[in-house]
Amino acid sequence: MQKWICKTCGTQFAPGEQPPGACPICLDERQYVGYNGQEWTTLAQMQQDGFRNEFREHEPHLVGIGTTPTFAIGERALLVQNERGNFLWDCMSLLDDETVMGIERLGGLTGMAISHPHYYSTMVEWAERFDIPIYLHEADRQWVMRPSERIRFWSGETYKLPNGMTLIRLGGHFPGGTVLHWQVGAGGKGVLLSGDIIQVVSDRRWVSFMYSYPNLIPLPAAEVERIRNMIEPYQFERLYGAWFERVVMQDAHDAVTRSAERYIRALKSVPQS
Ligand SMILES: [Zn+2]
Ligand SMILES: [Zn+2]
Repeated sequence: MQKWICKTCGTQFAPGEQPPGACPICLDERQYVGYNGQEWTTLAQMQQDGFRNEFREHEPHLVGIGTTPTFAIGERALLVQNERGNFLWDCMSLLDDETVMGIERLGGLTGMAISHPHYYSTMVEWAERFDIPIYLHEADRQWVMRPSERIRFWSGETYKLPNGMTLIRLGGHFPGGTVLHWQVGAGGKGVLLSGDIIQVVSDRRWVSFMYSYPNLIPLPAAEVERIRNMIEPYQFERLYGAWFERVVMQDAHDAVTRSAERYIRALKSVPQS
């Protein structure tokens, strides 16, 4: 029995003799099947292929962990060093002994949460290795390819974690699309960890809100407006998107508001006759 991993989205499936027939996450219109067709790997194969994880400190108490060379959608997780227990935001497929030792040196983990199914990756491997719960929004339950009793589905719009941080369901890209508010981050000015529920774009003073990023399918204006209103009450100076370089370093709350307004204008504008 092998726990197969989809090479395009990085998702690990429940054990099976043969690879699954297809990856539902990649068949969905928000993702895609790679040019070579559906391909599978395993954790052991990834290590043989030379993948490893690198650690980079983004700011005090916030460490990015990303796989090199790039795997799947360019996965990068964030480890928040919290005095009430370290927490992992988003996840990645590769988990090896070196990564476990690196995390143990930072103080281990007490829990993890994931923004949306494109980061579910090998979450159950991680949860078992560190003996921790995984917090997922129940609206995305259908996308869990390897079920586990470690998964705690939460419901509603916000969820206060035991360490004091808050999960906020913004939806949009996925119905259960979640961001994490770390209120003491950025020297007490607040940080938002957003995956690609709010995605930082190439001009890092701006962000994006899309139904599909690889296939460039926008969200309706009303959805962008709802997301803007939902995040409005939270204070945050900095916003960390899905990849190492995608960070809004300052005025991130304003960047989200400005970007939402820019989108709404673009989506609602009528061609001039
Ligand atoms: Zn896939
Ligand atoms: Zn995504």
